[in-house]
Amino acid sequence: MLGCSGSIGSQALSILQQHRDRFSVVLLSAHTAADQVAAAAGLHRPAATCLTGPGAAPALPAGTRHFTGADGLLAALDHSAPDIVLNAITGAAGLAASEWTLRNGRTLALANKESLVIAGEYLMPLARASGASILPVDSEHCAIFQCLHGEVPRSIRRLWLTGSGGPFRTRPLDTFAAITRDQALRHPTWTMGPRITIGSATMMNKAFEVLEAHWLFAVPPDRIQVVLHPQSIVHSMVEFVDGSMLAQCGVPDMRVPILYCLGWPERLPFAFEPFDPVRWRSLEFAPFEAERYPAVGLAYDCLRLGGDSGARLNAADEVATAAFLAGRIPFPAITATVAAVLQAAPIRPIHSLADVIRADDEARTLAHKVLAAAPLANTHLEP
Ligand code: MG
Repeated sequence: MLGCSGSIGSQALSILQQHRDRFSVVLLSAHTAADQVAAAAGLHRPAATCLTGPGAAPALPAGTRHFTGADGLLAALDHSAPDIVLNAITGAAGLAASEWTLRNGRTLALANKESLVIAGEYLMPLARASGASILPVDSEHCAIFQCLHGEVPRSIRRLWLTGSGGPFRTRPLDTFAAITRDQALRHPTWTMGPRITIGSATMMNKAFEVLEAHWLFAVPPDRIQVVLHPQSIVHSMVEFVDGSMLAQCGVPDMRVPILYCLGWPERLPFAFEPFDPVRWRSLEFAPFEAERYPAVGLAYDCLRLGGDSGARLNAADEVATAAFLAGRIPFPAITATVAAVLQAAPIRPIHSLADVIRADDEARTLAHKVLAAAPLANTHLEP
């Protein structure tokens, strides 16, 4: 259980607590949340814990070995030998653990979509070689994964990724420069961490999901479509060559895809409020506007460019999102910065993790340069 203190991690732990007859938690990691790791370790008594960031070691039960740092996480994986790795780390920091899991032929329940965004080209062959399964926790991809059950690739006409459109779906475009941090952090349907919530407002998150879908399902970019669906009930759809559409639906609750991935190929019982089709009798869909969400087009650019472009996309977005959250740049500058980095960077092929890390470093440096060169008014700060 990697990233156990975040939104996905804590929901996963609550599920695991209800299924203790079936799962034993062998590793808990977080970046700095020592108290949460200690509390969960007291309950689950894992073989290992890890804090990848700075801070004092948590108080742990006897028999639990503690590791620290990014390298410590890989040592903790070796020590605890999990069958399933739920990777809920945020950002590029999750890549090495995904690589470990796939190289060792274990099952990867992937909530760290960045792994595939930045290194899909490298990770997918690794999974094929080791026979590792990748189960997407991301609700859209979990939906598509379920819709594709028992299907063959040539039957697929298109993948339809749904997106809520975030909090600014109907906001006048000429007011985007005045968007505040708090407004951007208020997602209409999902409660998530800050980075993904900002990514939902810019729809950079959907851009990442286009890349993620491409790598997971081996569908070419021109057959991956984004459609807005503000209610987040239809989690995504698959259109088949015979005209059939399959959609996976449910109220927005990340525990459902987490549970699906943990239980796969079975379905585990979950005490949730029964779905009421009458309540959701009118489901709304709207065309996705490229002008409102320029981030999405960058995903298709990356798929055209190939190589390490996804790593650059992610790194630049991490830097630009942090700058927006720190009040240093206005909202539209997030995507503009990422686009500038992608345009400027020489794209190179990926042969190893080192190539990915180099692209990530270069793109971060470049993103900081772009931000420094064009200091933008803090018009979005609240008085
Ligand atoms: Mg998603």
